[in-house]
Amino acid sequence: MLHIRPNYKNPNLKCYYCSHNTPAEEYEETQRLYFIKSGLKLWLGYKYTEVEVHIPRCKECFDLHYPKWKVHFYRLLWLLCSALVFFGIYKAADLEPSVGVYAFAIIVSIGLGAALAGFIAMFFNKRSPKKGVRPLGNNDEYAPIRRLEGLGFLDYKPDPSKGSAYVNEDLTPDDIESAFKQIKAEDDCIISGL
Ligand SMILES: [Zn+2]
Repeated sequence: MLHIRPNYKNPNLKCYYCSHNTPAEEYEETQRLYFIKSGLKLWLGYKYTEVEVHIPRCKECFDLHYPKWKVHFYRLLWLLCSALVFFGIYKAADLEPSVGVYAFAIIVSIGLGAALAGFIAMFFNKRSPKKGVRPLGNNDEYAPIRRLEGLGFLDYKPDPSKGSAYVNEDLTPDDIESAFKQIKAEDDCIISGL
């Protein structure tokens, strides 16, 4: 996997989310981008390149993105969703109580509860936590991501069987190479794993 990291040695480097504070590596956010290499649109034999973009963030923005209440809120939501799913399974199946039945219902409830809580949490993450601070997940304007998405990189794992695979036929390896050069020279990023 390729990694694109900001140059923390640059004294002018700013946090992407507030465009104001000095970021630190320990608070950075990461986003993965995918690009289909081969032109094969079959489920068999398609390959993609995975790029992890490291986005500079300051401590203040990190705390705004991951406040303590949100972590507790998410856990509570998870618990509630799990209990709801458990109750639903229990009612629907009219289960005979036994250890195996309880274990199965609990495992399914925890899994579905986490998925449901994660889905609800997504809506909170889309909102700006403070005026002038970009919301978590709003990374499209980060220069290296903007460049790669402009070339046809996807911010989700391509799934050709669902028709989500997109191959930019006109794109040559030289185009990607020149985008990487711009990311290094103009965005002052360090690319590793090439
Ligand atoms: Zn910031």
